[in-house]
Amino acid sequence: MQPCDHDVTALPVAVPNQFRKYTPEQAGVVRQCPICFRVASGGSDPVSPQVITDHYPSGEAGSGVVLLFYLLDSIASNRSEIQQLVSELEHAGVDVFSTLSRINRDPDINPAIDLDRRIRHLEQFL
Ligand SMILES: [Zn+2]
Repeated sequence: MQPCDHDVTALPVAVPNQFRKYTPEQAGVVRQCPICFRVASGGSDPVSPQVITDHYPSGEAGSGVVLLFYLLDSIASNRSEIQQLVSELEHAGVDVFSTLSRINRDPDINPAIDLDRRIRHLEQFL
């Protein structure tokens, strides 16, 4: 995913071990732009994912949803990883579709990806 014009405001989030396989270069920290939700690897002094948006679930599951945005950049290339991550998140008690829908409806968030379309696509193959 390309860095965005909002990159100065991207917030670092720690990636728990079990989710590192979903990150670019198995990164231990990723940064997410709180406006367009683009994700890039690297960063220091991680904050809670809920600092990016309080739609994120608390704790490690929140980092999992951040990584979902990284994978959703290309459903075609990341399909099996997306299936696996969503299943892990649901197992942890996260309602992934309701979280994505709340983010999609938030007027302060303007996702770089077409989130409407991604959600419809996910509903078909999950
Ligand atoms: Zn941005």
